[in-house]
Amino acid sequence: MAAIHELSAVLSNQIAAGEVIERPASVVKELVENAIDAGSHEIDIIVDEAGLKLIEVIDDGSGIEGDQLELAFHRHATSKIDDRKDLFKVRSLGFRGEALPSIASIADVVMVTSTGGEGQAIHIAGGKVLSQTPAEARRGTDIAVKDLFYNVPARLKYMKSLNTELSKIVDIVNRLALGHPQIQISLTHNNRELMRTAGRGDLLQVIGSIYGMNKAGKMLPINNVDADFKISGYVSLPELTRASRNYMTILLNGRYIKNYQLTKAIIEGYGSKLMVGRYPVAVVNLEMDPLLVDVNVHPTKQEVRISKESELSEIVTATIRAKLSEQNLIPDGLTNL
Ligand code: ADP
Ligand code: MG
Repeated sequence: MAAIHELSAVLSNQIAAGEVIERPASVVKELVENAIDAGSHEIDIIVDEAGLKLIEVIDDGSGIEGDQLELAFHRHATSKIDDRKDLFKVRSLGFRGEALPSIASIADVVMVTSTGGEGQAIHIAGGKVLSQTPAEARRGTDIAVKDLFYNVPARLKYMKSLNTELSKIVDIVNRLALGHPQIQISLTHNNRELMRTAGRGDLLQVIGSIYGMNKAGKMLPINNVDADFKISGYVSLPELTRASRNYMTILLNGRYIKNYQLTKAIIEGYGSKLMVGRYPVAVVNLEMDPLLVDVNVHPTKQEVRISKESELSEIVTATIRAKLSEQNLIPDGLTNL
């Protein structure tokens, strides 16, 4: 057997990238989350060839100081948490310090950033810094990721059709926009603008720009405050349903999560009002003490562990059920019988 030795930084980043960056949509998610964490008001996402050729995210957030720019691409380098204590009360979307080094190890990346003064540009490809120079920039960050997976042939081959990859990108951008109505978010693919939100903090407007204004008109607001949880958002009237569960979005402290039990809780709120195989449109915002949530379960942070999950599920169901029963759900034709 060969002697034991530590892997190079580039290689260990490429290994981590296998977990964090599954497909172009994962890059979009990580970059937009960074832009959100940077306090941006406006985020523009530009994608070519379903992200395999180009993924560019432009924000007007805090920017990065020139002397920290290279460090941002080191593994486990982050400005978001400091010590163990912070790990149990994460409020930011990122905290693992893995996205930038992972992406830069499997693509060609140029980041131009400014905190307000003179900007800096860094060019990294295949994990190697090629240059860092002063650059003209306004406050914020512009990161362009080209030729994703160029040095990971197996992953490139595994990519589904461009349509599938694009639909995954659209899906994640939609969810991030639903979670952040106060940020103006746009998505452009091959020079065609696919969506743009107003950034006015109005969730119903975001629902309208994603699912269509006619659908937004069939959504009911929900609100409930409990000792541990705060629930808000919109759920569709029972007449507005879909054949897929994908139109239900659950956000926990601003983070889009996938959670089977909470999804089931939303559906249960409708009781017998849904036909078999039909699902509502819903955006459910859950706020709770970060101490009650463990977000450090999976590298992509879409699965989280929630203490009191059953209690929370019951409250979600009860909140939706109460809202729907306020409506006069008896069809017109039957009221005269
Ligand atoms: P994480 O988000 O988990 O901290 P990343 O690798 O995604 O790790 O980013 C590393 C660091 O780079 C962040 O902690 C942040 O300080 C900085 N950073 C990345 N993207 C941006 C951005 N768009 N605006 C400002 N700072 C950023
Ligand atoms: Mg990040």
